[in-house]
Amino acid sequence: MKSSLLISAALAFLLLPGIAVQTIAADDASPNASLTKNGPPRIDVILWFDTEDYLLPADDDACKRLAGILTQRGIHGTFKVVGEKARTLERRGRQDVIDALKKHTIGYHANFHSVHPTPSEYLADCGFLDGINEFVRREGGGAADVRRIFGVPTLACYGQPGSSWSPQGIAALRQIGVAPAGQPCYIDEGSHVGLDEKPFWYEGAINVYHMGHNVTRMELHDPAAVEPAKAKVSEIAEHLRQEGGGLISIFYHPCEWVHEQFWDGVNFAHGRNPPREEWKAPPQLPAEETEGAFHRFEQYLDHIRSVPGVRFITAADLPAIYADVMHKDGVSREEMDELAKRILNTGPSGQVAMDYQVIGRKSFSVADQFELFTLATGQIVSGKAPVFPLFPGGLLGPDSAAPASRTDTHLNWPAFRDATLDVRDFITKERSVPARVFIGAEPVPPGDFLVALASAYQEYQNAGKAPDGVSLGMATGIAAERYIAKDTPQLFGGWVIHPQGFRAPKIMEIARLQAWTLKPALRAE
Ligand SMILES: [Zn+2]
Repeated sequence: MKSSLLISAALAFLLLPGIAVQTIAADDASPNASLTKNGPPRIDVILWFDTEDYLLPADDDACKRLAGILTQRGIHGTFKVVGEKARTLERRGRQDVIDALKKHTIGYHANFHSVHPTPSEYLADCGFLDGINEFVRREGGGAADVRRIFGVPTLACYGQPGSSWSPQGIAALRQIGVAPAGQPCYIDEGSHVGLDEKPFWYEGAINVYHMGHNVTRMELHDPAAVEPAKAKVSEIAEHLRQEGGGLISIFYHPCEWVHEQFWDGVNFAHGRNPPREEWKAPPQLPAEETEGAFHRFEQYLDHIRSVPGVRFITAADLPAIYADVMHKDGVSREEMDELAKRILNTGPSGQVAMDYQVIGRKSFSVADQFELFTLATGQIVSGKAPVFPLFPGGLLGPDSAAPASRTDTHLNWPAFRDATLDVRDFITKERSVPARVFIGAEPVPPGDFLVALASAYQEYQNAGKAPDGVSLGMATGIAAERYIAKDTPQLFGGWVIHPQGFRAPKIMEIARLQAWTLKPALRAE
């Protein structure tokens, strides 16, 4: 599921101009600096289980036993439960299984998982906003069932079935009740979007996805796999320790302990969609093979918890660990001045490419920058000095592609003022970056307008008064788009459940628009 799509961490940071601003203490410049003050770097391990087989009854027992193995060791796992799996446990009267799982963190893994149409299938031709509604319509009921059956007020995370990923699903999480501490979380593995093999913010959600070298697992059914798998965890932990700490992602499906073949491949492969009456349970493994796999898994767990500095976390811990300091502390004048400098810093080609920015322990997506400069410049055009700290609420990216750039980039002050007030009204009401900003009758790209906002802000801060006019950017790119995968035949088609040759290029176009919202998730604790 992984690919070598991402630009390396080193190269990505070379692309970021500037360094931490002066007012921030040097020892706070590293996002992980606080970890080293109070002891060795912390290695978090998130163990997540896609709990999805609603056909083979032995899977219920596998869930219970797995939950028990973790509980015995004081380890909390994250069980992402499929809606139909939760309803099946209820129907079969398996309150014992529900109770065992409830000792852990409960997430969500789609309503029916592999019954067609899967999320990417039904979203393939949708736009952003209608796609969010369609995701809520199809998946919201299952999320409510999982909450009801497990007696939890919110689900700790969501992750897609197979490769059936979508940007609309991430934006919909709050609406379907997947927001621990009010914060949507996304946990899965795939290559659609990722940021340097670390957790990241995308569409206002914390994402643990495309973790590259930091995702690992042991092959359960091969006795020879145990020692290499243990060594692999130690090696990743050592690498992260040198970086000052980090997160390791490990995933399984409870059904892997008991089946010979995935339950959904038996029924729904290549777009097949038999009616419920014809759903078949997958073939089951002999009991001794299941036994051996559990035994090996226990050894694997015992090794992981013996690695120095390792702590098991769940999806429910992510909002505190990765709390966005920008929202909590607000944004200072010094940070705004630095952001304006970076936005207006044209490269050798003379063109501007907007990127996420990191200043000290805060990260700023391009959408954050758009909101911040609309707030600050909105005050300036209203005849007031900006008041700091600024508190951005967070925006989604634009819902459609930008128009062409204006050939005449100059704006007189009244035209700029009126456009800024209109943009401020738009973001307040829509909570997203507008796809187009109107200068009178003419639509201009929001990226070009962000350049004008930053330059008006900078001129005001330097001169103490508003300028006579400002310049729009020209063909301003969104550099963060490099973290969004190109559409390829394998990206969605690689999952055996999707029809052969299935592709969803429009989903990736929408994903690229949401690159406006992408930024690293830095540790707050
Ligand atoms: Zn799954």
